[in-house]
Amino acid sequence: MAYTVTSLPTINYYPISNKGAQITIGSGKDEFFTRQQPYPYSHEVSWRNWKGQEIPFFLDDDSGQPLLELRSDGTALIDPDIISAAFYLLSGWQEYFSEERDQHGRFPYSASVQHRYGFVTMPVVNYYFDVLKTAVEHVTGQPLTPRRWANGASWAAFITHDIDNLYSAWKAPAKSALRQGRLLSFGRQLWRHLTTPDAWDNLAQVQQTVASYGAKSTFFFLPEHRPAANGTPNADYKLQKVWPEAAAAIGTSEIGIHVSLGAPYHAHLKREEHRLQHLRNGVKAYGIRFHYLQWEPRITPVILDTLLYKYDSTLGFAEYYGFRNSYCLPFYPFDFQQGKSFSFLEIPLNVMDATLHHPRYLQLEPEEILPALTLMFQEIERFGGVCTVLWHNENFDPANENTGPHQFAEIMDYLRSRNVAFVNGQEICEQMG
Ligand SMILES: [Zn+2]
Repeated sequence: MAYTVTSLPTINYYPISNKGAQITIGSGKDEFFTRQQPYPYSHEVSWRNWKGQEIPFFLDDDSGQPLLELRSDGTALIDPDIISAAFYLLSGWQEYFSEERDQHGRFPYSASVQHRYGFVTMPVVNYYFDVLKTAVEHVTGQPLTPRRWANGASWAAFITHDIDNLYSAWKAPAKSALRQGRLLSFGRQLWRHLTTPDAWDNLAQVQQTVASYGAKSTFFFLPEHRPAANGTPNADYKLQKVWPEAAAAIGTSEIGIHVSLGAPYHAHLKREEHRLQHLRNGVKAYGIRFHYLQWEPRITPVILDTLLYKYDSTLGFAEYYGFRNSYCLPFYPFDFQQGKSFSFLEIPLNVMDATLHHPRYLQLEPEEILPALTLMFQEIERFGGVCTVLWHNENFDPANENTGPHQFAEIMDYLRSRNVAFVNGQEICEQMG
């Protein structure tokens, strides 16, 4: 799926019957997968140089052999077991077998190998594939071309908005006025709240802003307004009530479902799906993202598969931008129970606005945001991947000077300047399927 492949050479593990194999990969480390432990031992991770960069190779006890040997007889030898390593990272093995979860039931970034070895902004699996690609090109004598996106663009961007709040812009300043006893100011803000639209009731503005870059928005609506059992808020609006206006505001934009916190179970999800579908005259949402990026690896993907979603775009770390599965292209997640891939596509989430400036996440200064993200964007462009951006509608409010419209504009200007193809989730599914 990452490259346009016309014919594949034979690939075998060393030393099993490698007669005739055009590419041989160093002895398989698949005994790791019988241990069902989340992490490899530290001696099973080695750093090797590939095209001038140090890359971590998992399940590799560096034997001192070169990483890649292109032989004059037209064969190639890859020393580390890049197949096992790619599977380990791409399948999310660590989160499936780890017991660590945070207060929202999420696998924490702090427990990840990306954090431990410091490579969250490096799509390591794409580097493994680059090694394999070089070997394939040597033995076939044919160049392997990366996939192309709409209009021949070399990479793509997926711009998304989770709609958590439409009516709460007034609350924080009004509360602080009240707390400080500034009653006149509080009264003025309450009056404005009652008589004028809220600054976060801005879906038309969001849609138009994104469209002004030649891009299209995908809106994930949250059909649950009651808070989760632990008090964490869901939507501040009732979907049924706002629907006519919201649907008119976003025009033909793609609509996805934003499933509430505390509902990664079949019946809950089904009920919320029905609410949205009912409002859309029976049209089912194509894609899904979970509120708070809640994802239980042992349950969530099974339900998404059962309910026949075409794609999910939840898998990023809330605490850090980058690559949760160390991969910058959409992929079919692995079904641990059935030992095969699920039928829905995962479009990994690379950066969420809240990650960049939040008491529990990063605290980047406004001017640090674009430089920090640029290295990640360059990695995605290099491998022809999809850059998925989550910018909440509430952060199109000019009152937000940290992760607000100005920072969003910088990101969009950058993406456009690099000739990205702006695509929505449905288009990604069609182009990758
Ligand atoms: Zn949300």
